[in-house]
Amino acid sequence: MKIALIAHDRKKDNLIQFVIAYHAILAQHELYATGTTGQRVIDETGLSVTRFRSGPLGGDQQIGAMIANNDMDMIIFFRDPLTAQPHEPDVSALIRLCDVYQIPLATNMGTAEVLLKGLQKGYIDWRLIEGRRN
Ligand code: PGA
Repeated sequence: MKIALIAHDRKKDNLIQFVIAYHAILAQHELYATGTTGQRVIDETGLSVTRFRSGPLGGDQQIGAMIANNDMDMIIFFRDPLTAQPHEPDVSALIRLCDVYQIPLATNMGTAEVLLKGLQKGYIDWRLIEGRRN
């Protein structure tokens, strides 16, 4: 599975904590991330990650393009609901594309745990999702 990791600045510590806790599962997948998030994941968890541009510089849109190309399977995006983001339109566009293409999206740690546990245990019926993406 191709999984994208994104965290707004005040959520980056949270995401690192999460990635460390779920290291064993995440290590079995192909990971992608926006620039700064990706660098922190690489430096602090040792996982290998393909980095895009930083979110405000187009990284969210690059991940959105992968979704539109049917080339991304899951998004873990720890948003900061308490801070205005200069690239809010990009954030909304990415979330919208997840809904257009039925891509599993976690915007907080609680949902991310459920998604990764579901992934690990094979609870996600990918055939259904794949069917809807066509
Ligand atoms: P960053 O981008 O990982 O480069 O900080 C995340 C974002 O703010 O969308």
